[in-house]
Amino acid sequence: MTRLTDTAPATGTTVAAMSATAVAALLGAALATAAPASAASRPAGTTTATGTTTAAGSGRAAAPNIQLPFPCGQKWRLDTWGHAPALDMVKEPDQTGTLGATVVAPLAGTVKQSFYHANAGNMIQIDHGGGYFTTYLHLQSRAVQVGAKVAAGATIGLVGKSGPTANDHPHLHFELGFDQNGDGSASWGEAGSERVRPTIGGVVYGTANSMTWRNVTSGNTCATPPPTYWVDTHADAPGYATPGGTRTGTLNKGTNYVYCRVWGPNVQVGADYNHWWLKTDLDSGSPTRNQWVSAYYLKRWGNDQAKDNSGRDIPNC
Ligand SMILES: [Zn+2]
Repeated sequence: MTRLTDTAPATGTTVAAMSATAVAALLGAALATAAPASAASRPAGTTTATGTTTAAGSGRAAAPNIQLPFPCGQKWRLDTWGHAPALDMVKEPDQTGTLGATVVAPLAGTVKQSFYHANAGNMIQIDHGGGYFTTYLHLQSRAVQVGAKVAAGATIGLVGKSGPTANDHPHLHFELGFDQNGDGSASWGEAGSERVRPTIGGVVYGTANSMTWRNVTSGNTCATPPPTYWVDTHADAPGYATPGGTRTGTLNKGTNYVYCRVWGPNVQVGADYNHWWLKTDLDSGSPTRNQWVSAYYLKRWGNDQAKDNSGRDIPNC
């Protein structure tokens, strides 16, 4: 026995227990009008309508490596319940914040469907090219209309519990679809539709019914942090908006990271001088990010040197 299926795990005390089979049947019945089951699948080793050559034996091109449809760093729970490979998503650790959470595109694409469906509620389908589509059900609201082009990470709507098959439980019902019959969209929402197992952040999900993945972290449009170099500074260093420009704050004496260096105005105290300026984040001031301090404050190195603590030259910006 599992608990509710198309719904996410309950937060409350008691939920109706229902077998996966029973719920799958219920879901299938409820969404029977969502889309017709696909016709016969194409033979392996053929070419799709979009010209993508499919791998023999698989019947389709490799699934794109999409990201979780939530902003970078968020953690979500994924369940197949009785409807693998479809996934129901609720926010970790305890579902708090699921209702109204922002849904973002997991990959760039064009909105194929966006409407209120009698059973699935507010739904969106995005065409990602190559025959692949992602589908979102039970949304609280839809932020994009048919034909809109969306970038990866762009907001498409909010998580909700719209439509009777949401069973009044906030969650995102998510599917990756593949247009097997080449009709330009992927049927969704029921057993036998063109939904397939999604690869999210390099991991294949939706592999079987009654599967749960906890704390799946979104890698959606996460900025790659620039490399940093560790340096020791011998005194509190004034920080500037540009090398030698407007004073913005202070980098405290101690061990600090810097990003890169540029050659600029000389800073000289007695016999010690340095033309290099280091890009860093200050400890105090405004703004603090991406400001500049003189390499004169480096503790270990000589005049006009700008190296990190291990003796590597800090790269030019
Ligand atoms: Zn579902």
